[in-house]
Amino acid sequence: MRVPFVAANWKMNKTVHEALAYVEELREKVSDFNEVEIVIAPPFTALHAVASSLADTRIGVSGQDLHWKPKGAFTGEISANMLKEAGAKYVIIGHSERRHLFDESNESVKSKIQAASDVELISILCVGETLAEREAKQTFEILNKQLTEGLTGLHTLKSDRLIVAYEPIWAIGTGYNATPEQAQAAHAYIRSHLAKILGEVYAENCRIIYGGSVKPTNVDKLCVQVDVDGSLVGGSSLEANSFAEIVARSHSATV
Ligand code: PEP
Repeated sequence: MRVPFVAANWKMNKTVHEALAYVEELREKVSDFNEVEIVIAPPFTALHAVASSLADTRIGVSGQDLHWKPKGAFTGEISANMLKEAGAKYVIIGHSERRHLFDESNESVKSKIQAASDVELISILCVGETLAEREAKQTFEILNKQLTEGLTGLHTLKSDRLIVAYEPIWAIGTGYNATPEQAQAAHAYIRSHLAKILGEVYAENCRIIYGGSVKPTNVDKLCVQVDVDGSLVGGSSLEANSFAEIVARSHSATV
């Protein structure tokens, strides 16, 4: 059985002070939901403080990106090992904002997943199509390309070290989420394609989560879809109350 996974992507939000106040509030609100893996992805500056504050809880911490080299002259970048030592267990890779605003390619995504795997960080690989691609009925083609180019050849990557986040770009931060049926169709496709690249057992065990305007009011119908194993939440994760409610609702769907 795949353990439901719910992650908060704070993006470029929250100072250390704000981050600590949030996690203090969140830890009480989610302490009963043991059936859900809960993760917070703060900005790099707050990562160590958040990880230290959550060290006695089951809530994990994620980086929002990394550089694939272990060290060197890469001003502004951060390595897998730095993330790990700061307290991260996970890292988001290939978020659409990085792909589109910072020209990140499938090739660099693959190098980043390899770098994460080398230090035993769990990669949260984001994939998804634009609105124009969906309207041109190219969704599966785009997912195929992102997964094939991002994952092929990573034979040492265990299924518990990879989470795939289906994040249709037209749904991120727009208030328009995919319907449960659209999400299920994309997730089923992703699982079938993972089976081709990495094998049937791998695909069956790998968690595929949905991201794109997830809120307390729409998460119920999304998380009961058979191939939807949780969610990656941006805007609605910025208040501890609403993120805790998303976790609670994801938990109820499992029991
Ligand atoms: C995201 O950026 O990963 C995301 C899903 O954002 P939002 O929930 O705000 O759409």
